[in-house]
Amino acid sequence: MSTKRSRKYYRNLADRLWQELMWYKWGGRCGLCGKRLGREEAIGHHFIGRRVYHLRHYPENGILLDNECHSHKPYAPHRSPNLFMDMIVKKYPDSYNWIQEHQHELGQEPDYKERCEFLRKEIKRWQ
Ligand SMILES: [Zn+2]
Repeated sequence: MSTKRSRKYYRNLADRLWQELMWYKWGGRCGLCGKRLGREEAIGHHFIGRRVYHLRHYPENGILLDNECHSHKPYAPHRSPNLFMDMIVKKYPDSYNWIQEHQHELGQEPDYKERCEFLRKEIKRWQ
């Protein structure tokens, strides 16, 4: 297997583990409206975008949302990033502070295999 293919494999796996972690960390509920969610309908939304590879799998870098709060409500991050951030400041000041601290941070693309091992441990911690 080539290095490139293997990196993609572990990045995809880390993406799935991060989604699973979001579900446990947020107690299976939408972080904005509180609705109880099944694993399949829950969306782990990144505060700092997925293209920022070194932060992509941080436990602090996301919130669990249902489809309505992710894409359709007036405060949904994909409708109004500003209103969404207003909600985060009010409801989750620790998350807001984390975003402020890291949003302009530069970093190297991580070793995704190591990220997977880290995420598996985090999932166990929150299960
Ligand atoms: Zn919701």
